Amino acid sequence: MHPVQKTTMDPPLTLGVPRSEPIPPDDCGVCAALAKARAAAKEQGDMSRVSDLNVEIRNHHEPRRKRRR
Ligand SMILES: [Zn+2]
Repeated sequence: MHPVQKTTMDPPLTLGVPRSEPIPPDDCGVCAALAKARAAAKEQGDMSRVSDLNVEIRNHHEPRRKRRR
């Protein structure tokens, strides 16, 4: 007989930490600039720009997926 128990495996929400914010590698000037712009956007509360920049940083080092080259 099983006790009725919720076994939802929700990951603990870490408050204040935006999910999966990409960390730019130290040796990438482009990402460093993007990260700087991201910090500035964050200060201004421009979260849509922040997520745009996050996408850019992520894409910059993403092992090519959709991108041709
Ligand atoms: Zn980069």
